[in-house]
Amino acid sequence: MGDFYELFLEDAVLAAPLLEITLTSRDKDSADPVPMCGFPVHSADGYIKRLAELGHRVAICEQVEDPKQLSGKRLVKRAVVEVVTPGLVGDPAGLDASSEVAVMSIVLGEAGEPSGLAILDASTGDFRATRIDAAASAQMGDGAGALAPLPDAVLDELRRIAPREIVCDRETYARIEGALRPMLPHSVLTRVPTSSFEPDRAPVVPPGFDPKGRGPDDRAAASLIAYLGVNQPFALEHVPRLRNYHLRDTMVLDESTRTHLELFESHEDRSRRGTLIELLDASVTPLGSRRIANWLRYPLLQPSEIQRRQEGVGYLVERDRPRARLRDALSKVRDLERILTKAIRPTATPRDLGALRTSLDAIPEVRAALGLGSDPAEGSKRASSKKGNDTANEALLDQDLPDALPVPAALSELTALLWDALIDEPPVVAKGSRGANETGYIREGYQSELDVLRKSATKGREWIAGLEAEERKRSGISTLKVKFHPVHGYSLEVSKTQLDKVPDDYERKQTLANVERFTTPALSEVQGKVMGANDRAAALEREILESVRLEVVARADEIRAAADAVANADALASLAEVARLEAWVRPVVHDGETIEVKAGRHPVVEAVLSAAHAEGFVPNDTSLDPADAQILLLTGPNMSGKSTYLRQVALIVLMAQMGSWVPAERASVGVVDRIFTRVGASDRLARGESTFMVEMRETAEILRGATRSSLLILDEIGRGTSTFDGLSIAWAVLEHLHDTPSLCARTLFATHYHELSDLSRTRPRVRNGHFEAREWKDEVVFLRRLVTGGASRSYGIAVAQLAGLPKPVISRARQILKNLERGELDPQGLPVLAKEAGEVADAPGQLSFVLGAPAPRSPEEEEVLNALREFDPDATTPMDALTKLAALRALLERDDQS
Ligand code: ADP
Ligand code: MG
Repeated sequence: MGDFYELFLEDAVLAAPLLEITLTSRDKDSADPVPMCGFPVHSADGYIKRLAELGHRVAICEQVEDPKQLSGKRLVKRAVVEVVTPGLVGDPAGLDASSEVAVMSIVLGEAGEPSGLAILDASTGDFRATRIDAAASAQMGDGAGALAPLPDAVLDELRRIAPREIVCDRETYARIEGALRPMLPHSVLTRVPTSSFEPDRAPVVPPGFDPKGRGPDDRAAASLIAYLGVNQPFALEHVPRLRNYHLRDTMVLDESTRTHLELFESHEDRSRRGTLIELLDASVTPLGSRRIANWLRYPLLQPSEIQRRQEGVGYLVERDRPRARLRDALSKVRDLERILTKAIRPTATPRDLGALRTSLDAIPEVRAALGLGSDPAEGSKRASSKKGNDTANEALLDQDLPDALPVPAALSELTALLWDALIDEPPVVAKGSRGANETGYIREGYQSELDVLRKSATKGREWIAGLEAEERKRSGISTLKVKFHPVHGYSLEVSKTQLDKVPDDYERKQTLANVERFTTPALSEVQGKVMGANDRAAALEREILESVRLEVVARADEIRAAADAVANADALASLAEVARLEAWVRPVVHDGETIEVKAGRHPVVEAVLSAAHAEGFVPNDTSLDPADAQILLLTGPNMSGKSTYLRQVALIVLMAQMGSWVPAERASVGVVDRIFTRVGASDRLARGESTFMVEMRETAEILRGATRSSLLILDEIGRGTSTFDGLSIAWAVLEHLHDTPSLCARTLFATHYHELSDLSRTRPRVRNGHFEAREWKDEVVFLRRLVTGGASRSYGIAVAQLAGLPKPVISRARQILKNLERGELDPQGLPVLAKEAGEVADAPGQLSFVLGAPAPRSPEEEEVLNALREFDPDATTPMDALTKLAALRALLERDDQS
């Protein structure tokens, strides 16, 4: 309505408070006023986006005919030209640069059939689909899983992408609605017609999309194309290329792992502060920022692919000055994907195309920084290298660029066209009804017809400009003025007191309070010419703008490919930059099963500590091997560093598999197919979400889903229930992980149950470790250094003693502890805490605390046994044997005395 978009009735009542605009009404005085609110056209994008973000759909109605051409008094025809939905935000301006705005379509497979997902980020032109095999999702199999509305693997992917909007058919909607709401509160679920899932009925066929496909992924993709066509028909002019991806190519990262490792959101305030992404993302464009996030979301599995990425990072790590120059050039490209999306919309303004031109302009600079010429004719040939000047030295010239570092196409022709056609600083004016009919944005010299029209208009205007002086002289009216009115055109204005001097050839046009306006035949004629020329010029400019836009549409795929190359280069340079700043190393990633880390650090904790303390972070080693050191069991008190260490290992693996350098002196990582991270319930009470049930469900998921190639990070599992329950469950879980060959995953297990370290007596691939602590000046000092062996069991009592508990209490506590260590229950199953030391061990038929495991041995006994195991009689002299025997005997005597 004029310069405003307006909402009426329920729409107005709903939107006004959401947009914080005033709710008024039309026909205020009538009995039945119509509620109404509105916002100006020039700020519409912000308001529309806000409604979409709040989960609403916004239909935009425009006048679809030119009111000037209308004869008679009928209303100008209006139509819905676009529907902005939560996931299809038409105009990408003002979106969060580092994240996707996705709409996803789900096709769920019936029992045994694969499911399909398609994802479209219309703001960047990313369109992808995947098929999820029933096998991958069938692990749910037993128990609660079978009734779950969504297969696990589908749900994982849904959570990983967190789309703004999910579309599905009626049946799926009914099936998943209830489950989805609490899990993905920020995703809007939209029902679409079942017929839209037919690939052969898709309104257009973008590259990569198979209209004859029958797979669930094909069907999901079809529904998104249809959805786009219904809501934003103009977007069908250029649907981006469809890319297929496979979950089996990338590491599985489920929701709890992403959360516990604080990859994207901190526990503290769910922001980016203190997350891994914050540390890794040093990109200079939104393109690079989204790419890094994507790499972190989908770590790779193929060592060759990882190494390819590493080649790119490595190349840039070694070249500081060229990297700086490259990053400087990249930054000028800005958000090319979203700029392109704006530029190919039919409502694109000259400024949108100007922004595209600025981005494209920066690409030759990126190519130069990479040591390549900007001339497309030169292809990928290297520019004449050794010029001996500074610029040449700062380019990455000295060696062949690795494949991983793609070079964007120069697109010089299109850039040149944009420069030829548009003035230096094109205005925001829109050609559609959403803006004024401003002109002058097409550059002079671009088209001769336009130039001629402009010249004649200018000549007319010059004649008119001279008219004032001339007519004053001729009429003798010294105050005569030439006036311009947008509707009435040019006139000669004379004040009423001077009317008697008006010449005969003046024709009266308009009478106002104090003045009258006239025209002359000559002025009318010139005015006609000027206005006609202006109108024709404006129409011509619109035509030219449209032809330039279509040229951009035609090259959209190429521009997207360039943007893709820029995103990659920026992401690689970002990883290189961080690796350099943090002094990280390139990990060796291989197909083997071991994980070896020398002096590893937790990247985020280290960054925080180095800012706060002089001492800094204490590095620790890691050695895991499913065939040998499969399970590392960490015992020890709170605050000793267990959780940090666990996460550090997971993060190093994750970073290695995304192609990043890692915080360590040396690292070698046998590829991990899936990281499971579980944190015991009580450690998560702060988030107020956790129950023992959740913890156990997550544990069950691990036992179903883990493989020999997985990495398990289990922190205080079993803590959410009473001691005996928790300990027993933890024990059984560990045994199961150890004893089931197919499940034999590399495992880090932190626990405050010291008893668990006894597991290593019966299970050869379990290693014990704890973090060193010292008593110093009546205080416990944590050294944060990982050492082998279980933690001292009387540790807590030592602390109690330090704290000043009376002596008798301390010694009684020691006694009880000893009983506990020897066997927790008497034959009747009652706790034996009350008995005196030594009694328990002699009691007949005692129950070993853990069924099936032998009674714990003293450290001395253990040492004797170990010595015997290692003893090789064939390689020992009788004399040596005798000495050894005596030493062992002495050890046992020491044990008896203690
Ligand atoms: P736990 O899980 O044993 O209770 P945490 O891993 O939570 O212990 O560590 C407690 C605190 O100790 C952390 O917040 C961290 O600041 C510090 N810390 C942990 N590991 C190290 C380390 N290797 N070097 C320095 N400080 C550390
Ligand atoms: Mg902890």
